[in-house]
Amino acid sequence: MAAKIIDGKATARQMREEIAQGVVELKKEKGITPGLGVILVGDDPASHSYVRAKEKACEKSGIYSDNNCLPAETSEKQLLEMIEKMNSNTKIHGILVQLPLPDRIDEAKVLLAINPEKDVDGFHPVNIGKMVSGQASFLPCTPNGIIQLLKRYEIKTEGAEVVIVGRSNIVGKPLANMLIQKTDAGNATVTVCHTRTKDITAHTRRADIIIAAAGRPNMITADMVKEGAAVIDVGVNRVEDSSKKKGYRLVGDVDFEAVKEKAGFITPVPGGVGPMTITMLLYNTLESARRSC
Ligand code: NAP
Repeated sequence: MAAKIIDGKATARQMREEIAQGVVELKKEKGITPGLGVILVGDDPASHSYVRAKEKACEKSGIYSDNNCLPAETSEKQLLEMIEKMNSNTKIHGILVQLPLPDRIDEAKVLLAINPEKDVDGFHPVNIGKMVSGQASFLPCTPNGIIQLLKRYEIKTEGAEVVIVGRSNIVGKPLANMLIQKTDAGNATVTVCHTRTKDITAHTRRADIIIAAAGRPNMITADMVKEGAAVIDVGVNRVEDSSKKKGYRLVGDVDFEAVKEKAGFITPVPGGVGPMTITMLLYNTLESARRSC
């Protein structure tokens, strides 16, 4: 039987309506408009388009956004000064520094400069530590978006065998931590695979839930998937396609057409995990504004 498609666009739309409602209520009850400060250094076109998408999403949800596109030659000192100003600006409840930063800027130092109470990306070591030890914190947006999809599609994680392919700091590692917590959306048994894993197929074949976050087009094939498994595709990869105006199309890490015939649930690319990431950023910004009252 063909898999149920997990519609990330629809879930994100529904969540953004809930967030917009929350923004209206906060303004009415406490007179506070949530604010997001965004800093981008350099001219990377992909980063600029992400920042524009975040700005548009804020506007639609009623969240104030303060976008700062700084020239590539901006020094680390100037960037740290801008973060410091945002840390003390009461109109700003969330701060996001668009990654990657130019090589000469120390990314770890920059992330450490953000006030953890405004770290809506959830990358500050204080928030990572809280997440690992199960304390309330800002959860990183892409993994938390995946958790929301699993919850809203009633895909049970308790006791489930989850196999994550990819161990990055922004997806694989935080997601593994979130899924092992003693929570409704946790209590899973998690295996994390990477390039040194001996036999990835042996792991994925026994998984009730596979999360592919390797950035390798079509690496999860149907023979790697157990009948009825839920397959979450985080990958966003450009593959050449001369039939498209841009000369490429976006695909995930999963061979969608073949795997959808075997899986129980599957996310498409685009339209699966992607729309949830910005949604969770809006969610964290609203949450931060609520906590500031
Ligand atoms: P990353 O930092 O490049 O990490 C990739 C991870 O996958 C690494 O741990 C790597 O292993 C592992 N890996 C790569 N090739 C592999 C292979 N052949 N077999 C097993 N493991 C392999 O990537 P990322 O930032 O986590 O992103 C992963 C993908 O998700 C990308 O396509 C990215 O565009 C996408 N993404 C999407 C969103 C969204 O909002 N939709 C958000 C973030 C990322 P090693 O550690 O051993 O090198």
